[in-house]
Amino acid sequence: MVQILNEKCVIGLDIGGTNSRIGAVGLDGRLLHSSLDSSKPLADGTPETAIADLAAYINGYIERSVAPKEVLGVAVAFPATIDQKREVLYSATNFGENAKCRFDGINIPAELQKFMAPPVFLGKDSDFILYNDVHELKINTKEMVAGIYFGTGIGSSFMYRGETIYGADGVAGEIGHLPISDNRRLCTCGEYQGCCETVASGWRLEQIRRECFPETEISDVFTKHADTEELRTFVFDCARVIALTGNLLNIAYTVVGGGIVNMNGFPKDVLKANVLSLLRHPLPRETYKLLFSPSGQHAGVLGAAQYLFGKLGIGTSEKGSQQAEATL
Ligand SMILES: [Zn+2]
Repeated sequence: MVQILNEKCVIGLDIGGTNSRIGAVGLDGRLLHSSLDSSKPLADGTPETAIADLAAYINGYIERSVAPKEVLGVAVAFPATIDQKREVLYSATNFGENAKCRFDGINIPAELQKFMAPPVFLGKDSDFILYNDVHELKINTKEMVAGIYFGTGIGSSFMYRGETIYGADGVAGEIGHLPISDNRRLCTCGEYQGCCETVASGWRLEQIRRECFPETEISDVFTKHADTEELRTFVFDCARVIALTGNLLNIAYTVVGGGIVNMNGFPKDVLKANVLSLLRHPLPRETYKLLFSPSGQHAGVLGAAQYLFGKLGIGTSEKGSQQAEATL
């Protein structure tokens, strides 16, 4: 029998460079249904039909898999920089061909709204992941909270008093491009200015594998080579990124996640120890809490739902009411 609670839901769409996941989440925060699809139909094509294609994808999903449930809201996350009002997508360099995204410069909620009835919101993927982490870890969001995610690049999100920090232009938290290294490697941003990503990211790890361990599959680099100088340095550089933000903002809770950290054999304990050693002491080191993200494949969809609950005034989230139980 269908529960009354589940007759209403929200829709989260987490658009990735390769695949996109769309799902329906009940008002109790539980995932009701989800679908994983290639991002190619959304990424390919002209700007003129971009919104119509996106709307057709979302509406098609609702008709196929969600109806007759009532949809109260839709939140769409792009792996992109977006404006401070969370309306206009600036750029998504890993979405589309030649770093050009067909959604660039479009007010996505306003345009999408022309094709659908429920209110539509736009967000950044890492912001939604942190919403989910905060919910799952029961983090007190009255404090300064950071999410740092080591994937192909470095994703991040910062939250204070329950609100994501967007910055003057909406692009706060581009920590992958903090210029902290004196190497002269080319970064994905097109510069040679020692960006963090050139020492601590998935694409850097792949470079290290090619240069030092060409016989090893990327998935095995930590299980086979974690004790080598190259990978010890890599993990230390990841810690430098985390500690840098901790010292800068006196962050109470930092959630660390992403595909790199979740690889087999990744030395989480070493990473934690390195972060602590790099934090200023006695403060913020003594109060700092580093947690690992519990987020699974559905984190973007579930985080989109948490974001929507806040926007729509739906009170299932326990945001801000509980202290994190897990500590360093
Ligand atoms: Zn860069």
